[in-house]
Amino acid sequence: MLVVQKFGGTSVADVERIRTVAGRIARTRAAGHEVVVVVSAMAGETNRLLALAKATARTPDERESDALVATGEQVTAALTALALHDAGIPARSFLGHQVRIETDSAHGRARIVRVDVERLRAALAGGAVAVVAGFQGVDEQGSITTLGRGGSDTSAVALAAALDAEVCEIYTDVQGVYTSDPRIVPQARKLERITYDEMLELASLGAKVLQIRSVEFAKRYRVPVHVRSSFSEAEGTWVVEEDPAMEEVSVAGVAYDRDEAKLTVLRVPDRPGLAARVFGPIARANIVVDMIIQNASAEGTTDLTFTVPRGDYDKAKGLLEATAREIGAQGIAGQLDVAKVSIVGVGMRTHAGIAARMFEVLSNEGINIQMISTSEIKISVVIDAKYTELAVRALHDAFIPPTPNPPTPAPGKRP
Ligand code: ASP
Ligand code: MG
Repeated sequence: MLVVQKFGGTSVADVERIRTVAGRIARTRAAGHEVVVVVSAMAGETNRLLALAKATARTPDERESDALVATGEQVTAALTALALHDAGIPARSFLGHQVRIETDSAHGRARIVRVDVERLRAALAGGAVAVVAGFQGVDEQGSITTLGRGGSDTSAVALAAALDAEVCEIYTDVQGVYTSDPRIVPQARKLERITYDEMLELASLGAKVLQIRSVEFAKRYRVPVHVRSSFSEAEGTWVVEEDPAMEEVSVAGVAYDRDEAKLTVLRVPDRPGLAARVFGPIARANIVVDMIIQNASAEGTTDLTFTVPRGDYDKAKGLLEATAREIGAQGIAGQLDVAKVSIVGVGMRTHAGIAARMFEVLSNEGINIQMISTSEIKISVVIDAKYTELAVRALHDAFIPPTPNPPTPAPGKRP
């Protein structure tokens, strides 16, 4: 059985921890598995390297920045192989281009287009552990690329898919995926399992356990992902395909995102094409719009409200002010300190009244809902940022049972 084990930055933060990681790999191997390891850079190293680039050049060239930041993973891959040797285990390190993880040329956010695992297979066949530098690849021109922050997760899942691994284990500094952020909700508990779709919603909602792209990959290639702690032997959370029992639970998690800001274009003339005029310049500036609300038209105009990442607020506002003048809208209103709070669960498809209950819970706390958006398995609201914690706690209390996933009734005993 082939296992891919990915170790995040805190798991390889120093030599002592790398030796601990080697011990775990050794045990996996002793249990009879073939092991491919993927490592992140030591905690803090990627930030340090990025800062070096910024200190050297006002606008660092993207190709050279990638060549620089990719070194973080080169160090940990080699050190992990060395630690394995020291424990008497044959091991070989591989950089992205040595494996050959081919990507497009979008430096800093490259996408994997092809993975060639022949050299890894050869290393495994020779009895070695293959240790791969995460986060990096190579493009058609032979330039080093990186996959975006947190990209080692995606390296690991892509390799697990290409190698048809039994499981992709993601070792991190938390016990798994939680029903909410334990720093805000002390009762938050570790989920035993979660579906790919729920994880995608939670990942994009600010629960930063896995890079979103890695979950998309896992879903597409049906790679079972096991998120677990490198500091304990306990089972973590399995990210898997949906099965009917998972719909028994209506809400799997409560997430929040404070990185949002709200903008309203006031009194947009109600004519075809004006929404396109409003969003065109925003899109061309590469600003990602999240929720959008258009009010019902009154007196021939509508208000158009939407959210953008907080860091893009000023830029978006400037663009909108220009557009508002051109199209004869009244002006722009905005709020920086808003938050998005969401509940997520595949069971929402089959449980009625979840939205009504959510709004009631918020109303009981006196929290005003400014915007609402829904998908099949998610309901999100935008609220004043100062109520984030209150909202998250109240929703967790209301929707998440204090005991782990209730036992699935035996098939014959269903009502
Ligand atoms: N070292 C990279 C980062 O800090 C990639 C990773 O850790 O997954 O974003
Ligand atoms: Mg990570």
